[in-house]
Amino acid sequence: MVVGRHRNTKAIINLGAIAENVNLERKQLAQGQEIFAVVKANAYGHGLLPVAKTARKAGATGFCVAVIDEGIALRQAGFVNETILVLGVSPSSEAVYLAKNNLSTAVSTIDFLQAAQPQLSQAGLKLRVHISLDTGMGRIGFKESQTLRKAVDYMHEYPEQFEFEGIFTHFAQADSADSSYYQQQLAKFKKLTEGLTLPRYVHVANSAAALWHKACGGNVIRYGITMYGLNPSGNELEVPLPIKPALSLYSELVHVKKIAAGESVGYGSTYTAKKSEWIGTVPIGYADGWLRRMQGFKLLVAGKYCETVGRVCMDQLMVRLPSQLPIGTKVTLIGKDGENEITAQDVANYAQTIHYEITCCLSERILRKYQ
Ligand code: PLP
Repeated sequence: MVVGRHRNTKAIINLGAIAENVNLERKQLAQGQEIFAVVKANAYGHGLLPVAKTARKAGATGFCVAVIDEGIALRQAGFVNETILVLGVSPSSEAVYLAKNNLSTAVSTIDFLQAAQPQLSQAGLKLRVHISLDTGMGRIGFKESQTLRKAVDYMHEYPEQFEFEGIFTHFAQADSADSSYYQQQLAKFKKLTEGLTLPRYVHVANSAAALWHKACGGNVIRYGITMYGLNPSGNELEVPLPIKPALSLYSELVHVKKIAAGESVGYGSTYTAKKSEWIGTVPIGYADGWLRRMQGFKLLVAGKYCETVGRVCMDQLMVRLPSQLPIGTKVTLIGKDGENEITAQDVANYAQTIHYEITCCLSERILRKYQ
């Protein structure tokens, strides 16, 4: 992907905020607990390597990614000894590659282990396995005690090929005011792991569980959205720590013109001026991850709310200005300007989604500047 270094749109990533957010969680840890920074999806759009380096400095001891290549990118960038866990389902044909790169992998079926075993044996390599338990997320993982035990026994049968390094589950509703489903999942996790000799890493907590369900246990926190300074629950629950958002998104007016009553703006001519008005063009569009459905959303132009008029284009959008403003006037899409602020949550509310999706979707074309 080509980065737009020579245009006026950039995301500012405050690495100090990321470090502080990790530190805040570090102070909450129980004896023996560690933080694994969740840096999948380009660190939720914030930039894999700068975030991972910052999190490591701030005390994260491991990393969670979703796909093998994200783990490899970390290894190649000098994350040589840290545990890197691939949370998604990896193809069994990649078992040797995983092991060669010392990546830990989530495993949800005995089939994976059985298919990987001869390949690992032939390569003379051992794979680090984190057994995934589906306690109610309905995504990946063992659901039954019997199949789980079979898989664990199978790994013990082949100690040269498998290290049973971790066991984990993922909560579907740890960010909800109603904790009943969370409680059910935790009870199922306890039941499934009862009597099992537990591996080195036992992990159940995402950000939400770490914030609102400290008693969930485990010795690793998979710390994602809160590291980026965002509330896992959106608006539902209050975050008990003074986290700081790390990402802001800015651009500038690159074209300003007056249009007459009756003139239209953008594809489909969905906006027509009722009177003469000033329109500014901003170089960001849906190819940058600024979604097409943001038509009508108010951006800050020189610190004042101005409505996006007409459809958001692939690379540009238009705003209605209060008056003629100079080319180069600052436009804030996420962040503060003076008294006013647009949060990732505001954007998500307007787009009828969650802030996770807003930051993850900011494409690599947007230049990231680190502070
Ligand atoms: N663990 C797993 C398995 C996940 O899929 C995710 C994120 O999607 C996380 C942890 C991190 O969650 P959060 O960003 O809510 O902390």
